[in-house]
Amino acid sequence: MPDRTLRVCALYPDLMNIYADRGNLTVFERRCAWRGIGFELTGAGIGDAIDPDAADLFYIGGGQDRDQALCAQDLATVKRDGLHAAAARGAVVFAVCGGLQLLGHGYELDGERLPGVGLVDLDTRREDGPRLLGNIAIEVDLPGGPPLLAGFENHAGRTYLGAGERPLGRVVHGNGNNGHDKTEGVRGGPHGTVIGTYMHGPLLPKNTGFADWLSATALGIAPAELPPLDDALEGAAHAEAAHAAGV
Ligand code: GLN
Repeated sequence: MPDRTLRVCALYPDLMNIYADRGNLTVFERRCAWRGIGFELTGAGIGDAIDPDAADLFYIGGGQDRDQALCAQDLATVKRDGLHAAAARGAVVFAVCGGLQLLGHGYELDGERLPGVGLVDLDTRREDGPRLLGNIAIEVDLPGGPPLLAGFENHAGRTYLGAGERPLGRVVHGNGNNGHDKTEGVRGGPHGTVIGTYMHGPLLPKNTGFADWLSATALGIAPAELPPLDDALEGAAHAEAAHAAGV
């Protein structure tokens, strides 16, 4: 596949990078290199508008509440139109934890409301109760994708999906979006390419089938069209993460 290039744009790479979420980008980069697929990484910080045609996958990692507060207004204004146009043309938007919380309408915390970018119908709020913290496994239904994702979650915010919005997966073990309704993450947007999850780890090194699903979707091909790789080590890491989550 020599003439293909995966173009990734990382949003707020310095601010939104908790639990080594930047490692997800390394997974995209390495797997492209091993397959002979080109890889380009750009960053968009505060004040930078988004060119919807300049990347195939837009990434937002997790962040502490204070980091989210620094990004939220910019995401909901400066980057809003570009990201909506990107989702409308089928580009992938992939957001983790604090990033997921900013994909929807907003995040309510300590009497303050951070605006969201409105790509999907979900809302997030702090509630009384403990942080939702620990190992997590979810069943997913992605065309040509893996059946199970395993990772780690740690969030105080509780996310609720709107009635017509679909989660990324169903919680098998752990808390997921809110600890009540067994939903985890979101998979929405006009083409089902706006993906959010609470799962860190970073997630992708031990869920390489999901990394491939995201990459293939961003490239506009089926995951099966990607050349196979020797994933013995990655498979063992996935099995260990699933085992840690009681699966
Ligand atoms: N600040 C958010 C929360 O606690 C997200 C934290 C994170 O990205 N791990 O809910």
